[in-house]
Amino acid sequence: MRYSQLLLPTLKETPAEAEVVSHKLLLRAGFIRKITSGVYSYLPLGLAAVRKVERIVREEMNNAGAQEVLLPMVQPADLWIESGRWEKYGPELLRFKDRHQRESCLGPTHEEVITDLVRREVHSYRGLPLNLYQIQTKFRDEIRPRFGLMRGREFIMKDGYSFDASEAEAGKTYETMHYAYHRIFSRCGLKFRAVEADTGTIGGSFSHEFMVLADTGEDTLVICRKCTYAANMEKATAMEPAAPSEEVALLPLAKKETPGKRKVEAVTEFLGITPRELVKTMVYLADGKPVAVLVRGDHEVQPVKLKNLLGAIDVELADDKQVFDATGVPTGYLGPVGLTIPVVADREVARMRNFVVGANEKNFHCLNANLGRDFEVERVADLRMVTAEDRCPLCGAELELTRGIEVGHIFKLGTNYSEALNARFLDNEGQERPFIMGCYGIGVSRTVAAAIEQNHDKDGIIFPLPIAPFQVVLLNLSPNDEAITAAAEGLYTALAKEGIEVLLDDRDERPGSKFKDADLIGIPYRVTVGKSFAQEGLVEIRKRATGETVSLPLAQVAAELGARIRAELA
Ligand code: ATP
Ligand code: MG
Repeated sequence: MRYSQLLLPTLKETPAEAEVVSHKLLLRAGFIRKITSGVYSYLPLGLAAVRKVERIVREEMNNAGAQEVLLPMVQPADLWIESGRWEKYGPELLRFKDRHQRESCLGPTHEEVITDLVRREVHSYRGLPLNLYQIQTKFRDEIRPRFGLMRGREFIMKDGYSFDASEAEAGKTYETMHYAYHRIFSRCGLKFRAVEADTGTIGGSFSHEFMVLADTGEDTLVICRKCTYAANMEKATAMEPAAPSEEVALLPLAKKETPGKRKVEAVTEFLGITPRELVKTMVYLADGKPVAVLVRGDHEVQPVKLKNLLGAIDVELADDKQVFDATGVPTGYLGPVGLTIPVVADREVARMRNFVVGANEKNFHCLNANLGRDFEVERVADLRMVTAEDRCPLCGAELELTRGIEVGHIFKLGTNYSEALNARFLDNEGQERPFIMGCYGIGVSRTVAAAIEQNHDKDGIIFPLPIAPFQVVLLNLSPNDEAITAAAEGLYTALAKEGIEVLLDDRDERPGSKFKDADLIGIPYRVTVGKSFAQEGLVEIRKRATGETVSLPLAQVAAELGARIRAELA
């Protein structure tokens, strides 16, 4: 491809709307353009990177025995009513009526459609196992579309769905997909980690997220420094707290004036204690209803755990007014003793003795509160975020907290959808059974953004070779010089003959801006034909990732690059 003919509108300035580096660079490098909130056009280089990821995904899915289909984007409400999700999915589901007033939605995911297809077409165990996938544009009306391709409203996803006859077979399929995902993200050239993920109210332990490791990731990962334990913060647990010591005598509950002290630090400093000796009372609204959550002073509530415990669709932290409306107490002085709204406690609180809590009265706290003696709670459960001080729940070793971007999610669904949609087959004994399902997603467009979050420097993108839009950018530094141009054109042909994907920068631009653009768009190898060719017959090869350069005679360049690229992709 010739740069002079390519729609590649690079920008010198960073657009003000972009907060994260991948968004900034995708815009600056001329890969995407926004049309409206969370909806983007892909320009040629953006699309080329997406296609690279798609190709790897396709090859690995096909290798794993999955078959590609393409399902409709417009889906009838009836199917979603049947599955129960028309009610549950919430405003992320974009709903509309057609000219006949039939309700429909734009597919945010395709469990309903695929289950409907399979219940119509597959009736016997002989048709199983079946694993179908598609690569398609999804629409989710995200509440906060942001970060460019990282969280769009319209985005490209690979979604796959498996149908098995038995739990054992479904387990095997899950493992096959787990392995395929490992292959996919390894082949994309990304540093990633598979972590245990929250399975929501569906339950079960069979869900893993594939996380690209990057400091800018929205997710926190909890990883054991010693064993294989790795989980998303939403799901991660710490080693169980020790049982409460019987020897500690319970002291009498005492009210204490703590004038103006509302925050944990202020209260503990005032009382001369540590946050580990205090219990915070946090009020959440679970589907609109207030509930108080008790956690140790130095711990934070994990809202997803709370949501799962309560079986709620949505939980959010109450603001000061909502707290006051629900309890009559100003925030900062709330405590479980005598509180009238439902109270749940983190399991760590259940082993504490003689702790400080709010007294449900402005400017007062209680000393020596004890669960069971001074107040009761409805449930005790693991409700908090793991911290770096915690220990691995499996082996007791130290934990590391790090950040990641979710690019893939695999999930054992069981019979949730097949039961709801009455999708059944006859087993080998002639018995009717619901299909056992799994689902497997990859954020294809998000993967491109995540690759950039992980691989960039101050000058621009540093694409991993397997997903780079071009493998080589060839700079002709003097398009007006006949000898240099002839050499560059000859090399362009020779590189193409080697099977290399090459972008020839044949523009009539200053060398400086050619170097800048080459760095910005992140092509793994830069080849320069310029002054040293005119003087010594040498062409420079520079590796974008390391900056290392070599100069070779023109005739050797194509073979050298061909060998390097083949070796790297092997
Ligand atoms: P998230 O927690 O980030 O919203 P999710 O759990 O809703 O993700 P899934 O329903 O599992 O995501 O979708 C499969 C994959 O699609 C995700 O792993 C992610 O890579 C991608 N994805 C989900 N939502 C978006 C989005 N708004 N923009 C881009 N990619 C997305
Ligand atoms: Mg989501």
